[in-house]
Amino acid sequence: MLKAFLFDMDGVLFDSMPGHAVAWVKAVERYGLSMTAEEVYMNEGRTGAGTINALAQRTWGRDATESEIKEIYAAKSEEFNRYFEQQGEAPVMPGVTDVLNKVRARGFMRVIVTGSGQLSLLDNLNRHFPGQFSRELMVTAFDVKRGKPDPEPYLMGLQKAHLRADEAVVIENAPLGVQAAHAAGIFTIAVNTGPLPDSALWDAGADRVFPDMNALAAEIETFEL
Ligand code: MG
Repeated sequence: MLKAFLFDMDGVLFDSMPGHAVAWVKAVERYGLSMTAEEVYMNEGRTGAGTINALAQRTWGRDATESEIKEIYAAKSEEFNRYFEQQGEAPVMPGVTDVLNKVRARGFMRVIVTGSGQLSLLDNLNRHFPGQFSRELMVTAFDVKRGKPDPEPYLMGLQKAHLRADEAVVIENAPLGVQAAHAAGIFTIAVNTGPLPDSALWDAGADRVFPDMNALAAEIETFEL
């Protein structure tokens, strides 16, 4: 029986991925590393450390040190905040408030499972989505060791909410996030809010793929597992 929806954050709750793409590309360049915007989208969901280590391995042939990770991730956060300086923050994803209200109206729990350690976004959750989420039902970069595409974050989300895999549905936008949710044994709805082809989400193991949040909102009132 369906009891809960597990929501990813970037590219699901907030239209923040364009900012992440620009921020990663610019920040890693400062340190002699390189990453394309497409790679940012393909790697979405990994922890900051996981992403930085992958780039370091490719260019330096070794993992980044703790202090390099800290410094590069700080540079990335700085670039991210600069990108959204005019609005002050990333916009709410169009249609997602409708999805959340319908999920809440049906009495389902809402859990957040994100690889993000972006404090500015986490702090903004309650202001943008009042009454929807609680600190206790949230998995972030600060909780997980391995991060997506490992099932760990979604398994931790189930555990925090005392759920079995067959009592939950995941809403994801990224291939690695879909892979993580699928590996955790959870029914996974992908909403393609970015530039990648739908096939990237199907190939990762999505059970359903929607073109945007409004299309999902139209079905969520009657959705059953
Ligand atoms: Mg995402």
